[in-house]
Amino acid sequence: MRVHKLCENDEIRDIVVDLLENVGLSAGVINKYPHEFSGGQRQRVGIARALLFNPELIVADEAVSALDVSIQMQILQLLQDLKERLSLSYLFISHDLAVVRYFCQRVAIMYLGKFVELGTVNQIFDEPLHPYTLTLRNASPIPDPSVKQAFAQLKGEVPSPISPPRGCHFHPRCAKAKDICSREYPKWIELGEGRGVACHLYS
Ligand code: SF4
Repeated sequence: MRVHKLCENDEIRDIVVDLLENVGLSAGVINKYPHEFSGGQRQRVGIARALLFNPELIVADEAVSALDVSIQMQILQLLQDLKERLSLSYLFISHDLAVVRYFCQRVAIMYLGKFVELGTVNQIFDEPLHPYTLTLRNASPIPDPSVKQAFAQLKGEVPSPISPPRGCHFHPRCAKAKDICSREYPKWIELGEGRGVACHLYS
């Protein structure tokens, strides 16, 4: 607040107390050191810090991945509550597909730093188009013992992003690869209503 000259010095304490209360922390924690907070509380402090600038958009990069599952739910509910109260949007980055399915409305799937598919959360999970999306979806456990799941087998390792394979970066691991896949990177194809995919199967 001082660096960005957001307010007078004598206003800082009141603003910080408001921010802390907004994220479910009490004014009593204001003088604590970082190591005195739990993981979930630290995440709340991080969210409070992001709220300081009255943002319209918050980039939440692996916002809950380091937390215990029970705390994850509390933080997701806090983010949901703030979204509704403050009309926020999130760019929510996660490797946890169950969290993505629960929390997100639109999903972009990335492979080696590039978008390979974009759609609503239902389209991505119920009707995946890109072979990588399909593999990811099938590799994600369904928490229901009555569901028989065939886990996807994906050959090879993820290549280095600084030296990706020529053509489609996914082609050395793709069961549906065609000749063109090793030569040309697929163009992004708009499928309407915000849906898109980068794959030669659809060109
Ligand atoms: S472009 Fe080819 S290699 Fe890449 S995902 Fe599509 S089918 Fe597989």
